[in-house]
Order: sequence, then structure tokens, then C-alpha cells
Amino acid sequence: MSTLVLDLGGTWIRSALYHDDYSLSKVNKYKLSWTKDNLNSNQKLEIIFSYLKKISQQYNEEDSINKISISAGMCINHLNGNVHYSAPLFGDERVNFNFKETLINKVFNKPLIVINDVSALCYGLDALGLRRNYSQFAVLTISSGIALRRYDVINKKIFFDPVFGIQGEIGHIPILNPFFKYDNKPICACGGESHFAAYSSGKGLDNIFDNYLIKDKLFFDTPLGHAYSQKKISVLALKDILLSSPDQVDDLLNIIVYPIAQAIAMLFSFCPEVECLFICGGLIEALNIFLIKKIFDLLPKIAYVYDRIFFAERIIFIEKDISLGLIGAGYFASITN
Ligand SMILES: [Zn+2]
Repeated sequence: MSTLVLDLGGTWIRSALYHDDYSLSKVNKYKLSWTKDNLNSNQKLEIIFSYLKKISQQYNEEDSINKISISAGMCINHLNGNVHYSAPLFGDERVNFNFKETLINKVFNKPLIVINDVSALCYGLDALGLRRNYSQFAVLTISSGIALRRYDVINKKIFFDPVFGIQGEIGHIPILNPFFKYDNKPICACGGESHFAAYSSGKGLDNIFDNYLIKDKLFFDTPLGHAYSQKKISVLALKDILLSSPDQVDDLLNIIVYPIAQAIAMLFSFCPEVECLFICGGLIEALNIFLIKKIFDLLPKIAYVYDRIFFAERIIFIEKDISLGLIGAGYFASITN
């Protein structure tokens, strides 16, 4: 018997079979494609459901699936499977619905577990023993959106609000970003102004290109502008210039990294019991060493007491996390009834 595990992100849906020795087989991924943001949340959900149905049908009788576990990039109530918004998927429509019930009614006819995607990463790290001997760690993901979860290793539990079953949403805290010099502050995918994700997520970076950088007539005469007209994707254009002439994009890198550094400094200030912070996600994979170096440069300048060594000893960057979420979803299902 095996568990079908699914990972629903802002861009990709991944799937696999999870086995009791923490391994995966039949791993697949599918690009979630809809014509930009011209669909409402119900239409998007119908598309997501049809993908999930199609994907699950590809696993057949021989796979003898007895359970399905799905990790999703949404703010999910840990207690009942309710979704409280998901900016990367549904933009500023404040979508609230019972994800678990809807999936059971519309897509799957098997026992189903739903979990937030960053929570799944926490369980994945625990399953693989990457937590070493910590009793508590946190995971911060920086990709289409931004999220953070704290994990209790001893009790194998995510910390969450006892009433709402959620853990705030760090991507949507307002940040005063001294490196952002424009008068109009950026609007987050959720509709809020100056949020962490508006500066430092993949969607935020796209917005900064679309609504600030390329509106400057001289932009396409700059190295970054040239790279952008070739690559068409903001993060890839930025990566190109970081590799060739990083000084040219230092201002932009500061805009992206300052809120990350501020969030990390706040995490360790409010939660000194967190022994380790894992940082992962698409932006870390793409910009990698440039982002990491800048984070360690800015952190000691922002944090009052803690120095560079404090952070270097507590932060671990995960440069590729493709299967961690799937393993985590499977592991969580195996310890949940
Ligand atoms: Zn927001």
C-alpha cells in the first residue's frame, strides 16, 4: 500500500508515491498554466481540480493507493482544512473555503490529508533527519509567495493558533523598506501595500519590474533592461546581471533582501527558542549565492545584538527542495489518522 502525495504550488503541481521508508517513486511534475490572472478563483479552482483528477488517475490499480496527502501553497487551517486566502494562487480575492471537503466531494474518493506546503517541508526535514538534534526549527520559503512555519521536533507538531489553526502569514507583514526609493509603495499580490512579499517574492519582483523599472524610459538601455528583453522573466534577467556585473543591480538586490533580513532578525528576536532556520524556495534556487551573501551582509546591520556568526550558525539554505514537500506530505499522512 502506498500514499499518493501531491504538492500544489503557485506554478507547479508535483506528484509521487510515498513509501514507509521515506522514499518516493513515480515522481512527476506539471506546470499549472492559466492565462495570467484573468480568471476568478472559482475558475482557477476548477482548473486545479481537473489537474489533480488527471494526475491521480495516472496512478493505477497496481500502485494500490490507500491514502492521498496533498500539500498546498495556501493558508490552511490546520484543524479543519479550511483555506484562509492564498495570494499566489488567487490574488486579492480573499477566498475562504473548505479545501479538504471540496476535494473529497469533487476530486478524490479516498482518505485525504491536506497540509500547508511549508508545514509539509517541516515534516520532510524531520523525516529525512535534517533537523539533526534540534528540538525546534523553522522553515522560511521564498518563491511565488513567502511563508514561514515553526516546527516542534519532539512532538512532531507545527505551532499554530489554537482557534484559527493557522500561523499568521509572514509574507504579508508590512515592511518599511529604506532601499525602495519610489513614492508609490508596491502592492502585494494580496492587495496590501508594502508587504514583505511585495518586495521579496517572485510575484513581487515581477510587479517591481512591471510597475516601476520598465516604466523608466532609460531602463532598456541598462544591462538589466537588455537582459530583461532577452529573458522576459524578471528573476532570470536579474540573475544574468548578478553573474556579469553585480554592482549594476546592487540597489535592486538590497530592495529584495532587506525585508528578508528584517524578517529573520524579528524571528530570532521574538522566538529565541528556534534553534535553526532553514531557508528555501524558487528565489533561493535562482539567485542563490548572491542572495545568501547579501542576507548575511545585511542581517548584522539590522539586528541589534546578534552578529554575523550568530546567524551563520543558525541559518541553513536549502538550494534544491523539490522532493522535500512530497516526502513531508507523505510522512505527515503516515503519523496522522
Ligand atoms: Zn500581502
